[in-house]
Amino acid sequence: MNENKVENVIIVGGACAGYTAALYTARAELEPLVIEGFQWGGQLQNTTDVENYPGFPGGIMGPELMQHFRAQAERFGTRFISDDATAIELSDGGLHRVRVGDAEHLAKTVILAMGAEPKRLGIPGEIELSGRGVSTCGVCDGAFFKGQKVVVIGGGDSAMEDSIFISKYASELTIVHRRDEFRASKIMLERAKAVPNIRLKTPYVPEEFVAGDDGKLAEVRLRHEESGEVEEMEVGGAFVAIGHTPRSELVREQVDVDDGGYVLTLDGSTRTNLAGVFAVGDLVDHTYRQAVTAAGTGCMGALDAEWYLRDAPPSPEAHWYGKPGEAQRIQPAPAS
Ligand code: NAP
Repeated sequence: MNENKVENVIIVGGACAGYTAALYTARAELEPLVIEGFQWGGQLQNTTDVENYPGFPGGIMGPELMQHFRAQAERFGTRFISDDATAIELSDGGLHRVRVGDAEHLAKTVILAMGAEPKRLGIPGEIELSGRGVSTCGVCDGAFFKGQKVVVIGGGDSAMEDSIFISKYASELTIVHRRDEFRASKIMLERAKAVPNIRLKTPYVPEEFVAGDDGKLAEVRLRHEESGEVEEMEVGGAFVAIGHTPRSELVREQVDVDDGGYVLTLDGSTRTNLAGVFAVGDLVDHTYRQAVTAAGTGCMGALDAEWYLRDAPPSPEAHWYGKPGEAQRIQPAPAS
């Protein structure tokens, strides 16, 4: 790959939003370069059946869906770097630099699509039983626990919303929270409390998810926060809903972000406060966090980038002469 080349668009992030942005910019003949990450595919890579992605009436496995996304973007000429971006230097209306180890790539536009990670409890069994009873997405996986006992961990709005959704399928649902007070908004807490098969259990913290003989989740070990007493609860499913961390660490000091580190976009678009820099997917989304919504904003990011390049094309002859860390606007090439 020619590192001196100035790309039209670099997309940072290889999952629903990033690959959709790649598909659209590739079809617009912008020849996108995707820094997709070493573990490309995002959260769907750790998901089994996806039943709520439109167009697949029989459902599809998460990793397979990601393969399709990637292949479709590749079909129209997208190039991929299957490694993690290590540094991003954004400018306001000029060229942007994305580093992958020692290699540096320049671009007229950047679409940030790094996603968000569900927070983890960090207890035994959590990773091992992921997809086999332990989940971080109620809307995605709730329907798989029809008639089963389920536990939801967390005390915020996500835990309440997930619980209300999953309670339609589960026989019994217990919300386990580490404090007696809930962080969730009053209205969400009241709604959850009003559901007949939901009960609250506080102040407890999960210590371990334990597998049964079939290798699937069978019980969760809970410790009372004050007495330290430990008890086992038999469950078919456990949902960890303790918040998300947007993966904005490489750009947090450069673009506007909110208190939670989510990148802020302008006026219902994907534009950030920096000209030529767009943000899409879970990196900007507190609320919906679905594969289809991420794909939708990926499309928006691609169109925003395309329109930006059409309406304000930086000069291809411009020299990049800034030092690392210096954001500057493109200078026209000096007349010779
Ligand atoms: P959140 O508000 O940060 O709540 C996270 C919850 O998980 C807190 O109750 C926290 O306990 C608990 N927690 C964190 N780490 C834990 C750990 N290691 N072990 C046990 N418990 C742990 O996150 P969220 O619920 O995802 O909400 C994020 C934002 O999205 C909020 O602004 C929320 O209002 C919004 N949201 C809104 C809606 C809606 O309006 N429909 C739906 C979903 C989310 P502590 O309280 O003890 O810290």
